Amino acid sequence: MSKESSAKIKFYNGENIPLELHKVRVVQKLHLVPIERRLEALQEGGFNTFRLNTRDVFLDMLTDSGTNAMSDMQLSAMMHADDAYAGSQSFFRMQKAVEDVLKKKYLLPAHQGRAAENILANAYIKKKGDLIPMNYHFTTALAHITQYGGRIVELLYDEAYNIASSHPFKGNMNVERLEEVIRETGVENIPFIRMEASTNLIGGQPFSIANMRAVREIADKYGIKIVLDASLLGENAYLVIRREPEFADASMAEVIEIMTGLADIVYFSARKLSSSRGGGICTNDLNIYRDLEPLVPLFEGFLTYGGMSVREIEAIAVGLYETLDESMICQSPQFIAYLVDILVAQGVPMVTPPGVLGAHVDAMKMCEHIPQTQYPAGALAAAFFLISGVRGMERGSISNQRDENGNETYADMELLRLAVPRRVFTLSQIKYVADRMTWLHRNRELIGGLKFVYEPPVLRFFMGGLEPVSDWTQKLIAKFKEDFGDSL
Ligand SMILES: *Cc1c(COP(=O)(O)O)cnc(C)c1O
Repeated sequence: MSKESSAKIKFYNGENIPLELHKVRVVQKLHLVPIERRLEALQEGGFNTFRLNTRDVFLDMLTDSGTNAMSDMQLSAMMHADDAYAGSQSFFRMQKAVEDVLKKKYLLPAHQGRAAENILANAYIKKKGDLIPMNYHFTTALAHITQYGGRIVELLYDEAYNIASSHPFKGNMNVERLEEVIRETGVENIPFIRMEASTNLIGGQPFSIANMRAVREIADKYGIKIVLDASLLGENAYLVIRREPEFADASMAEVIEIMTGLADIVYFSARKLSSSRGGGICTNDLNIYRDLEPLVPLFEGFLTYGGMSVREIEAIAVGLYETLDESMICQSPQFIAYLVDILVAQGVPMVTPPGVLGAHVDAMKMCEHIPQTQYPAGALAAAFFLISGVRGMERGSISNQRDENGNETYADMELLRLAVPRRVFTLSQIKYVADRMTWLHRNRELIGGLKFVYEPPVLRFFMGGLEPVSDWTQKLIAKFKEDFGDSL
């Protein structure tokens, strides 16, 4: 059977262009304000892209969370939502979609991914020092595990930390280390093993099914549960089809069924998985369901809404079925690959191979002249917004937290993430991003560092305020005017 995917469409001129397999029917006006206004916006927002007002932002590449485009089918489903505190038909439609797509019959709704993490950590981390082995942490998963006294160990292979790589599955778990960790720690101190699809913080990098099968084998040998973080499951499945030869002819439905079938518990942020709000936990094990059931009314709300509006629930249900459509899921990874390939060809240091959710620029390398004490990734995010109006997100030391003695902890990688939410941008907008980043790379020595002027004690990256350590913004603006004249 031939599958509908824009990867299958060849161009006569030989170019490799990701073709949109959707049309745009609702649009939102964007604002590309002059560079002087962009500088003011940075000053008002403490040189922190989280604090910008979208009136000043041209392309919003901050995150893929809750920003994917909604489909006509999702919007229409929202109109026939069933408002009921208990027993809403909307919930049963979501439950049916979870059963059909994720192949799990028991569903516990939660208001977003981190709420699912809270429930799982509350239910299963029973004593101080309990250890959760995982391929890599996600910020909120780590926060909830440590909140309940647990610890984590990250078991990626060394290759995952190699920024410029050609390894197709940098999200794989090191299974040899997993077995050692289980033997050293003792099964009774390991409540579950956590596998994250499309490992977010290392650049949206997938794991292979062969790897997850090997993890399952060890989990079975020692009788430990596997929890799958399925927030970015669709994209991981798509990359399995593209990169794992055994599954080259498989459908999205087949690959997703195999992946969720290898886990005892699957949880997800619907903000990413199905382009809406909300989240949930699902399982086929009634005992697990019973463990978690009392926590939903306690933290989230009644068992048939879990903190979500019924309209959101309807959109999730439709979005889950749409996840099976390769022509929809392929759109963001293909745009990301297109952007990464152009930038790599222009000499811009990027995380490779291209992953999902966004393109990631290696700020440590691009801004070698900025010491980590002056936050190269934060500086690059601010500089890129200044010269383009494109808002990315710092994923480096500003996103880290100080240790218990108040000392800075520097991140392994200093990345600028340029998120590419599904079906939101056009190809000319992606070309604009590539053009401006290429220019900035050529003029990178003009970018200077940042220092904190306001540093909140927790999650400082959200609301923290910074300022440039020198007058580098003026130099960058002068060079911009020299090269672009009166262009915005
Ligand atoms: C976003 C995300 C979460 C948290 O989900 P929220 O809905 O933002 O709370 C958990 N895991 C992964 C992999 C994510 O990308």
